[in-house]
Amino acid sequence: MKIDLDQSSRTGEIVSARPVDGSIRQAPRHLTSREYRPAGTVVNIDGVKVGLTELVVMAGPCSVESAEQMLRIAHEVKAAGATVLRGGAFKPRTSPYDFQGLGKAGLEHLRAASRETGLKVVTEVMDPREVELVAGYADCLQIGSRNMQNYPLLNEVGMSSKPALLKRGLAASYKEFLLAAEYIMAQGNEQVILCERGIRGLSNELRFTLDLNAVPYLKERTHLPVIVDPSHGTGSAHLVPAMSLAAIACGADGIIVEAHYSPADSISDAAQTISTADFADLMKDIAAVAEAVGRKVHLPMVR
Ligand code: PEP
Ligand code: MN
Repeated sequence: MKIDLDQSSRTGEIVSARPVDGSIRQAPRHLTSREYRPAGTVVNIDGVKVGLTELVVMAGPCSVESAEQMLRIAHEVKAAGATVLRGGAFKPRTSPYDFQGLGKAGLEHLRAASRETGLKVVTEVMDPREVELVAGYADCLQIGSRNMQNYPLLNEVGMSSKPALLKRGLAASYKEFLLAAEYIMAQGNEQVILCERGIRGLSNELRFTLDLNAVPYLKERTHLPVIVDPSHGTGSAHLVPAMSLAAIACGADGIIVEAHYSPADSISDAAQTISTADFADLMKDIAAVAEAVGRKVHLPMVR
């Protein structure tokens, strides 16, 4: 266990100091602070680097449903330019009666699709006792919104050698979000990607409110890469393209998108899942916005 912080820093308080130039700083003693690594952290997902000029696009279904489904989606999102494949094998569902995921079999389907396509795998781990199991299949460990303050889980992922994708709690402040990342880093795992995925808002019409303020705020305050999830952030497939482009425009290092060849047939989150065909169109628009903001995106083929 590695804890670099001195005793005074363990108060849990992130001091927000505002220098005269009006920029935002986090207490330099925190491992997540920009001062800790001014140049910025590049998270390496088995060769896919997050935090450089090139944006990283992660795509795939909400849930792993079958080997065939994963393989087909992997091929389709790869052809469009994704470099990381998403898919939940362990699903945090609001209702205990809803599909809970395929578990270990789902992890195997993800790994098989990765072997076939070369895409890296990001998948959620919900239980500290399953970190080792999931790390045996995943290239990046996702900590879901509902588990952002599951401290035993954060500590266990902090002791893993796999990078972490930490999603913002659906009612978490920036301070709570950063302190959750601090837990992972304090255990020695400095490969942490922050993911803004929407918070509870006032809208009854939409599932969540995608807080894009978080992107420039966090980029200024920490050295960690920041990505955006426009699928959970809106809950509505028709809003996903616009919010993906907005995320890139405001400085995100990438996005994670739910995509399926037949969104209506998705076992979970059908309403917010875009088709793989629409995903391919979105990638081209992302390339245009990326260029406008001095970023790049990998587009494997001209269609
Ligand atoms: C997911 O990405 O599969 C997921 C459940 O997201 P969140 O934790 O942001 O709700
Ligand atoms: Mn989902």
